[in-house]
Amino acid sequence: MTRRAILIHPDPRLRKVVPAIETVDAEVRKLADDMLETMYDAPGIGLAAPQIGVMGRVFVMDCDRDAPGEHPTVCINPKITWTSDARVTGEEGCLSIPDYYAEVERFEKIRLAFTDLDGAAHEEEYDGQWAICAQHELDHLDGKLFIDYLSAMRRTMVTQKMKKLKKERARG
Ligand SMILES: [Zn+2]
Repeated sequence: MTRRAILIHPDPRLRKVVPAIETVDAEVRKLADDMLETMYDAPGIGLAAPQIGVMGRVFVMDCDRDAPGEHPTVCINPKITWTSDARVTGEEGCLSIPDYYAEVERFEKIRLAFTDLDGAAHEEEYDGQWAICAQHELDHLDGKLFIDYLSAMRRTMVTQKMKKLKKERARG
């Protein structure tokens, strides 16, 4: 497993609608392993392929804070097939937007269809943090970030802050 560099907003690769994974092969399994290692190392509860510059519809998540590392979930070509009428508002952050958190409204429960690393089809119902995380990660595959749900003013403010952070990091 290799830890990969996480792209920081703003980056054009974080703004693309990325294509489906055609076949679940050794390359995709290696990618998923690397993504999980990168996510746990960050540490984070979710990571989408475009965040490490890979243009394919796959994300990983593990929202079990009591037993981190025990429920790694890999979702290939995920699609929401059902959403609850109820919505929830929770504080979100993003590994591509370090040290910034804001309240975002999401569906309280969703059903998610996806393919696993063995190429098998799944449909799972998620609630709580898992549902919020899956919606956040799925957005990444469509070039959408959680700050897109905020006001234009706050989004501009965050983007300026991230540009400054990237400059500082580039300088070392
Ligand atoms: Zn994110």
